[in-house]
Amino acid sequence: MNIHEYQAKALLRDYGAPVSDGRVVFKAEDAKTAAGELDGPLWVVKAQIHAGGRGKGSFKEASAGEKGGVRLAKSVEEAAEETARMLGRTLVTHQTGPVGKQVNRVYIEDGSGIERELYLALLVDRQSSRISFVCSTEGGMDIEEVAASTPEKILSFPVDPATGYQGFHGRRIAFMLGLEGAQVKQCVKLMGQLYQLFTDKDMEMLEINPLIVTDSGDLKCLDAKMGFDGNAVYRHGDIAALRDETEEDPKELAASKYDLNYIALDGEIGCMVNGAGLAMATMDIIKLYGAEPANFLDVGGGATTEKVTEAFKIITSDPNVKGILVNIFGGIMRCDVIAEGVIAAVKEVGLQVPLVVRLEGTNVEKGKEIIANSGLNVIAAENLKDGAEKIVKAVKG
Ligand code: GDP
Ligand code: MN
Repeated sequence: MNIHEYQAKALLRDYGAPVSDGRVVFKAEDAKTAAGELDGPLWVVKAQIHAGGRGKGSFKEASAGEKGGVRLAKSVEEAAEETARMLGRTLVTHQTGPVGKQVNRVYIEDGSGIERELYLALLVDRQSSRISFVCSTEGGMDIEEVAASTPEKILSFPVDPATGYQGFHGRRIAFMLGLEGAQVKQCVKLMGQLYQLFTDKDMEMLEINPLIVTDSGDLKCLDAKMGFDGNAVYRHGDIAALRDETEEDPKELAASKYDLNYIALDGEIGCMVNGAGLAMATMDIIKLYGAEPANFLDVGGGATTEKVTEAFKIITSDPNVKGILVNIFGGIMRCDVIAEGVIAAVKEVGLQVPLVVRLEGTNVEKGKEIIANSGLNVIAAENLKDGAEKIVKAVKG
């Protein structure tokens, strides 16, 4: 689960980390008051969307020479004008994809003078099975470019969970970032605060890009991105409250409401499967036969007809889906429940694409009978291989 920059900065502030003063604005008419509460003489107006690269992004239907989603303003009036120009429009960045994201919130911040822009992140490093600090002197807007062309400029420091964060981690990072004097002490303190926040809130990712040295020589978090482990959010009511559903994939959102494990992918074959292992195997075999899965979907062991119906609706609502493969191994899950769910869903939303169903296990005969008697145009498959071959053939010809 991701949150907005202004929410992330509020958490940073709670933990004592240095951030600028700022105000979030939802309506253009509130912008002037909000900006007026900040000191100036520089204001920064920042589009709040769950995607990075805003500074270099551009708005749809932008006028010639118009700036992206991060703009500097020299007066309260100018800050208000820039806010009004952003709200309601669609911002496209390299992380949003060509569709872009609508800007519904804008963060107005007290502008900082920048001496240096550094990069800092904390993440769960699966290679070392540890939380790692990742840092670089090449902060700012092009960290992907740095990673691609000069990866040696990005260093990573794993933290042993047995010791937790120690001062030497912070001193190493400070050295690596070329900090000096009082900045080293600030760095050691800040890294400790970030590590504490990261572990307290079960984060997956925390990125400060840029971490700046201000013109007065102090460290400050100028941007903040945070991702939280979705399976742990239930432990953090304060974090759950920050969820902005308008930023999420509507299909994944619907799936989470019905407790379905669904992840949207880019392919053309929708999959409905029970069990994560079988779902992975189904995706693999679809690829083996030359097509791509449109999603990962595990309806779970004890799915009800209602849940199956909902799962089917989510799959068919994806315009990329050119065919559907239902692959069920009935253990706890009964094949007749799946069959009824599929039929209920098709009755509700119709079926514009080929549907292959492979059922095996508990109540398989009953399930097959229900489908055979439904009058639906369903292609029956004998086993997983057969099912994959048939759906790929039906879609690709
Ligand atoms: P991103 O493009 O989505 O990563 O947004 P950032 O918050 O990182 O802002 C992009 C860039 O805008 C930064 O790298 C800075 O160069 C610039 N910027 C952001 N805030 C300030 C500020 O307070 N003062 C100045 N001078 N520049 C800023
Ligand atoms: Mn940034």
